[in-house]
Amino acid sequence: KDLFQSPDYFHVDGLLTEEHLMVRDAVRQWVKKEISPIIEDACQQATFPSHIIKGLGELGCFGPTIPQEYGGGGMDHISYGLMMQELERGDSGVRSTASVQGSLVMYPIFTFGSEEQKRKYLPKLASGEWMGCFGLTEPDFGSNPSGMITHFKDAGDHVVLNGAKMWISNAPFAQIAVVWAKDEEGVIRGLIVERGMEGFTTPETKGKWSLRASATGELVFDNVKVPKENILPNAKGLKGPLSCLSSARYGIAWGVTGAAMDCYDAALRYAKERIQFGKPIAGFQLTQKKLAEMVTEITKAQLMNWRLGVLKNEGKATPAQISMAKRNACEIATRIAREARQILGGMGITGEYPIMRHMMNLESVITYEGTHEIHLLITGLDITGLDAFH
Ligand code: FAD
Repeated sequence: KDLFQSPDYFHVDGLLTEEHLMVRDAVRQWVKKEISPIIEDACQQATFPSHIIKGLGELGCFGPTIPQEYGGGGMDHISYGLMMQELERGDSGVRSTASVQGSLVMYPIFTFGSEEQKRKYLPKLASGEWMGCFGLTEPDFGSNPSGMITHFKDAGDHVVLNGAKMWISNAPFAQIAVVWAKDEEGVIRGLIVERGMEGFTTPETKGKWSLRASATGELVFDNVKVPKENILPNAKGLKGPLSCLSSARYGIAWGVTGAAMDCYDAALRYAKERIQFGKPIAGFQLTQKKLAEMVTEITKAQLMNWRLGVLKNEGKATPAQISMAKRNACEIATRIAREARQILGGMGITGEYPIMRHMMNLESVITYEGTHEIHLLITGLDITGLDAFH
């Protein structure tokens, strides 16, 4: 039951290059060897398996699209997507760790950072020697980050940062945090805050029923003195954090498709083997309806991801297209996980199979990086020109 087989109903593999297939298979093998055997236990215990960081770094899962001169993989966006697909087939928490490091920490430093910042941080983040987190969400500002309260004041060669962020992935163990905060004019800027700076703490968020193998926490800033050289010089306004989210959301579209594939694969195998009323339950029309619809939705998501990857490689993918792909993939993956769970009957709720874990994880993924509703409003705005957010 552990031997995952990737559904590929429309021969999407035929659209991939040798390099894409090599990257995908390397991550698939690694997940099979390093993640699948330990992930159930890590989730049951609600611990982040920190020993996997080294392997993720060696595989190139941290910043795969960042140029090699800064320690990144220098790969294209389809390779990046395939990596996320395979990681999330293992577990959404593992994929989240890689997404945050690559898209939300390395990407802003690469895109908005000074040359010194890039040289100082990127190679260490690419190898996993340092881990980072991304602080945008606040207790009172989730879907509406422009209202954020976290702010800083000029104090000569440094600034003084006050405020709090919550729901921050990787916060409890990260060495650095890319934090979005308002300057004295109310303009949103990005700052690199390092663990050990006085007044900076990262209390862990306990009691999650979702993403249990990913560490989540708060970032609390109590008069933290941040050197001015830690401010990202080229990010001003909400566009900065939003462009990071576009990169991460793209990876999520691929990632949750991987989780959906794993649920489908487990359900298909189980349905062919489980005998009730004298025949495999796969032979009942009601089960076939579930399985046929699952593979149809997976195929549609695969094609959408691939096309979006091509557009991203050409520099043409719009944030609204990425929103549509993230929203659709999360929707179909949550539905597929639920249907797969039903196909397994009672066994579906146990940790013998990955399905219930994926199902619970997906409840976070459908909410973070822009909720299901917010992505729909982004599509709505894009097609009508009318803002329904406010
Ligand atoms: P709210 O914004 O309070 O939304 C509540 C509900 O209201 C939602 O259904 C929402 O869709 C709906 N809603 C809000 N506004 C509208 C509107 N205009 N129209 C219609 N409906 C609306 N954040 C980070 O910055 N960094 C991280 O690393 C990070 N990791 C996370 C990890 C986990 C496990 C989780 C659960 C969250 C994480 N987040 C992170 C935060 C995440 O991005 C937010 O939870 C998300 O943006 C939603 O914000 P909220 O929870 O405050 O919900």
